[in-house]
Amino acid sequence: MRIDRIKLEDFRNYAGQEVYFDPVCNVICGENAQGKTNLLEAMVCLSTGRSHRTRSDRELIRFTREGFRLEGEIHSRDREFTSRIEAGFGKKKRITINGVPAKAASDLSAVLNTVFFCPEDLQLIKEGASARRRFIDTSLCQLRPRYAAALTEYQRLHEHKTRILRDCADRPDLIATLPDFNLRMAETGAILIHYRARFIKMLASCAATAHKECSGGREELGLQYKTVKTVSDPFGDHKLLVVQLLEHQRQHHYAEISSRQCLSGPHKDDLEVLLDGLNARSYASQGQTRTAALALKLAAREIHKEVIGEYPILLLDDVLSELDPKRQEYVLNRIGSGQVFITCCEEDRLHSLLKGSVYRVKNGVVT
Ligand code: ATP
Ligand code: MG
Repeated sequence: MRIDRIKLEDFRNYAGQEVYFDPVCNVICGENAQGKTNLLEAMVCLSTGRSHRTRSDRELIRFTREGFRLEGEIHSRDREFTSRIEAGFGKKKRITINGVPAKAASDLSAVLNTVFFCPEDLQLIKEGASARRRFIDTSLCQLRPRYAAALTEYQRLHEHKTRILRDCADRPDLIATLPDFNLRMAETGAILIHYRARFIKMLASCAATAHKECSGGREELGLQYKTVKTVSDPFGDHKLLVVQLLEHQRQHHYAEISSRQCLSGPHKDDLEVLLDGLNARSYASQGQTRTAALALKLAAREIHKEVIGEYPILLLDDVLSELDPKRQEYVLNRIGSGQVFITCCEEDRLHSLLKGSVYRVKNGVVT
């Protein structure tokens, strides 16, 4: 899988830019605030239909402009694809693949997959559960269209139920609508749990291998899926999961109404990371945190390869310069095959380490 060409029009600080890429390694360098991350962000958009940095397409439109266009020429599954996104211009977002309108943004993931890695991800282990959920969701949405659809539906229901809980003190009649929301959330929630359990199982084995290699075999990395308490087996049958989710909601009915928050459901899931059996969030040192985060990200890439048969595009945003030489070398050796994009600052001596095309970005222009 690779991106051969990308074209940006009024996207972030790019007015109009077309770039042809190297099939293996692309080093993107430039001073701060010139557009390096924006270029990687455009690639993320072409693989998921949206940015990893913002939920609002408006932010992606170049200041004072009406809309943006992105186009990518992608080689995957032994075929050529042209994916296009057009947003703004007072219309609904339009996505086409080889000229055919896509039904959902997730159709883009059938063509292009990306794994994005930035310095903030090095804290993935130490942050709250939402960062780890986002990591799992981003991977799964690209791998499983049914998961992406269920997640969108679940988030819609969750927002709606939260509004009801917020307003029901003034409008007690709204409480009568809750059972319907609870049932639909249990049904879509069970789909999320089904996929998360399987993904985390694969992640655990790939990440443990990566962590072992990177730490010189000193520590054992373990992952544990933490979901709704009443769920006895996340691998269990769909019907049973729904029953158990409904039971948890029943137990929290009054607490939800009095706290005006949605307390029950897989939107609270977490991925517990253990180092030699100890919770990494509480006990890991900085170095251990970095190695574990690195292992998770590289493991996600391996899973894409296993499921899809091709490596996804690896986007390393400023992350290599944050790593010590030993971990840098580990990442670079791990890349093996597949296309990679690496951003770095001018003064970094990284380009001497890497073989590939070097691009310089200055004020939204690539040379
Ligand atoms: P750093 O090395 O600091 O990470 P960078 O090259 O990755 O820098 P980017 O994050 O790509 O920088 O941002 C480049 C510039 O794009 C920023 O100065 C930002 O203000 C600008 N920018 C962001 N969104 C828009 C937009 N919608 N329209 C115009 N410019 C924008
Ligand atoms: Mg940047």
